[in-house]
Amino acid sequence: MKLKTRLFLSFTLIIILPILMAFALYGFVALGGFRRGGNEMRPLYFSNTVDALTANTDADVNRLKQWSKAFPERFLNREILSDINSSLSEKNSFLVVKQGTKIIFDGAPDGMHPRYSKLPIYGKLSATDVLVVRLENQSGMLREVDFGNYRDHNHGQAFVITPTGSIVPGAGRILLTYVFWMALILFFTALIIVSTLYNSIIRKIRKMQEATENIRGGNLDFTLDVKGTDELSELAGSIERMKNRLRADAMQKIQNEDAQRKFLSNITHDLKTPLTSVIGYSEGLLDGIAPTPEKQMKYVQTIHNKAVEMNDLLNELSIFTKIDTNSILYNFEDINVKGFFGEFAEETEVEFESQNAGFRYVCEVADDTNMVADPSQIKRVLHNLVSNAVKYRRDDTELKVMLLVSDAGEFIQAEVADNGRGISQEDLPHVFERLFRADKARNTQIKGSGIGLSIVKKIVNDHGGQVWATSNEGTGSIFYFLLRKSSDKEEPSEQDSDN
Ligand code: ADP
Repeated sequence: MKLKTRLFLSFTLIIILPILMAFALYGFVALGGFRRGGNEMRPLYFSNTVDALTANTDADVNRLKQWSKAFPERFLNREILSDINSSLSEKNSFLVVKQGTKIIFDGAPDGMHPRYSKLPIYGKLSATDVLVVRLENQSGMLREVDFGNYRDHNHGQAFVITPTGSIVPGAGRILLTYVFWMALILFFTALIIVSTLYNSIIRKIRKMQEATENIRGGNLDFTLDVKGTDELSELAGSIERMKNRLRADAMQKIQNEDAQRKFLSNITHDLKTPLTSVIGYSEGLLDGIAPTPEKQMKYVQTIHNKAVEMNDLLNELSIFTKIDTNSILYNFEDINVKGFFGEFAEETEVEFESQNAGFRYVCEVADDTNMVADPSQIKRVLHNLVSNAVKYRRDDTELKVMLLVSDAGEFIQAEVADNGRGISQEDLPHVFERLFRADKARNTQIKGSGIGLSIVKKIVNDHGGQVWATSNEGTGSIFYFLLRKSSDKEEPSEQDSDN
């Protein structure tokens, strides 16, 4: 469940549950569940205060009524009257007893004395009547029980007075009970909901915290396993993916560093071999061990060849650093496809003839098809592909290479096909990676640094094209690349790119 939904549900529960419970509690109380000593705890207190107040003193008034009939002498006993008065004072009321015209008992607390002269006269008020009287600083409700015989002049009146200035004691209690239960219900509802939420959230947060600590410490060998569909689980999924990415990058970095080390040692070795020859042959010349001009010429030719070999290597190295720093500079031109590839094919054909190899060029695009490209860089692409075909030729078969240029809609497609050793299906996806050399190539004496095809890919991609290859081990390979045709609207442009 989403965190948002869970929070919404919790919020609703926290609001709704206590309200429902409060209703249930009200119903329980209203039905008399808390009834203690008559109906004093009923919610009646909040709706009908006069009834509530009279109900409050009913028990004591009834007692007085019984006495008036059976034990009138008790009205003259101060001790008994004090008892009644203290029972009444619990209910926020008090007792005043008058015999004849004389007040013989006055339970009125300070500040609540009635106007004694204005108290009703004997026999006027029945026990069920309620009279509102003025006390010193507030009003009060008065009930009366008469006792004794008027004719004998032995009569008296007992007044039960309840000041109305303060809240009915029963109502106070019931209010307190309400507040107490509401607070309890609120507390437990909130506790249960918050602890459920906390548990489900905190567990995930702890796991994520542990994971990020691990990542910070460089430990990427762990799995962050957080199940669920909420936002936190999604966050955990992102952390897990980030960690996997970091781990893959770290592995890649180690591999790259390894490959770079190997590349440097290969280049050093490859440079050292022709350099040794240059030193050897030039020393021979200086020492005069080549007596005839023909021999001297041969030595100089060898020195030149070796120097060219070193130059090629250094060029590769320079391109390699340019790729690394993304600083190959391009001079884009609008060039004629047929003319450009035809010129390259002519030069290559001559070279191939001298090496007893066959080179064929087929161009299927219209004569006026142009493309926007840097000719020297595309030449480098073709050169790398063709020299790979030569490098990885089969010893047992005459090498045949074909360059086919065809129309592919918005692009022109060039393919260099050979009948060489081919590349295994396992190595094929990696041949365009920097410093990659297929197992076969690594295990032979064929020199190479593993950057030729990565340069091809970089240049073609920077031209907005694509490059790919198909191959069959033992029968040969085809390398394809696409270059965008120039549209009529596009002016020939010359621009430098730092891609
Ligand atoms: P290098 O030739 O310097 O090793 P490249 O990047 O040019 O590096 O080529 C990468 C790898 O692809 C080579 O080591 C080789 O195994 C394989 N390869 C490239 N071209 C061919 C080809 N025409 N025939 C067979 N294998 C090839």
